[in-house]
Amino acid sequence: MLDGMIIPKAGKLTPEQLEEVERIAGEFDCSILEIVGRNRCVYAILGDENRELMFTRLRGLDFVSRVDLIESSYKSMDRKSALAEHKVKVGDTFVGEGGPFFIGGHCTVDPAEPNLYLETASALKEAGVDALRGGVWKPRTNPYSYQGVSKALEIVLEAKTRTGLPVDVEVMDAEQLTIALDAGIDVLQIGTRNALNYSLLKEVGKHTAGSTTAVLLKRGRHMAPPNEFIAAAEYIVAAGNPNVMLCPRGTMPALDGYRNQPDESITPLLKNRTWAPVVVDPSHSVGLADYVPAACMAAMAYGADGLCIEAHVDPARGIGDDPKQAVTPAAFSEIVAACREIWPRRFQADPVR
Ligand code: PEP
Ligand code: MN
Repeated sequence: MLDGMIIPKAGKLTPEQLEEVERIAGEFDCSILEIVGRNRCVYAILGDENRELMFTRLRGLDFVSRVDLIESSYKSMDRKSALAEHKVKVGDTFVGEGGPFFIGGHCTVDPAEPNLYLETASALKEAGVDALRGGVWKPRTNPYSYQGVSKALEIVLEAKTRTGLPVDVEVMDAEQLTIALDAGIDVLQIGTRNALNYSLLKEVGKHTAGSTTAVLLKRGRHMAPPNEFIAAAEYIVAAGNPNVMLCPRGTMPALDGYRNQPDESITPLLKNRTWAPVVVDPSHSVGLADYVPAACMAAMAYGADGLCIEAHVDPARGIGDDPKQAVTPAAFSEIVAACREIWPRRFQADPVR
């Protein structure tokens, strides 16, 4: 459990100062975790109990500005936490600053059709996408469906080189995590099935600590309470990586006729409780290409910072979810225009007092 946050007077503690803080925390069986933010580092105190004397001693250090005690169970994700000013950057763009952030691309990259992915990538770049998505390893409900192959990663990397855009790839285990990080994947997607896999969330946080790698955390499909969703993101941040985006993608049971129960409506609530950008996935939420544009606009009005949309140059020739729910680049471009219009009128949380 996190007990508190140390905010240094300067942007970062020197190694000697960190050592002193660690020594004090160690006397009380607590440890210190450095969390690297955009403008400053903050230091989470990890331990089991509230130790009054420890806090008093830490507050007494002349290089410490504040030690905040936060009541919330998601102390780093809370809008009142020291990370409140943190902005998540993907490529050269701060997510949710100056306009909506768009991730788009195939559900699944077909290793037999690399050109389809490369064509989609360049068409989406034209349409205004900020980052490309492409499923390399796929979590399939049916064990006999296409499961993905590492070879597809090369196609995603080729698209990254050709377009200059950052790329988002789902990882499901530690081995895929290592391959993706070695390949320089910019956004690690944690899918709905792993949204409560706390060991994986900790691994992801640990291996990306202090790096520029971002994480797109999907909402668990049976995860009803939003606080559980936020707590899952807390695992990644507490393990050292604050570059987390929250991704509502529909929950179960499904609304009759939809793939899931659309949940873009939790966006304002997430924006009120946390500082993290919300990037809604309308594709898995409604599950049909025809409904995706309206779901995008709804998410935008609810205050989403961005959208993650499945898109394909020729959905009928796609694999995975693409034939049923991918939109074409032309539809994608219309979505971008419509969302930019809604952007100034979207829900925005009141500033924290
Ligand atoms: C996907 O993005 O293709 C995917 C499998 O998503 P989810 O984890 O939301 O089902
Ligand atoms: Mn999909």
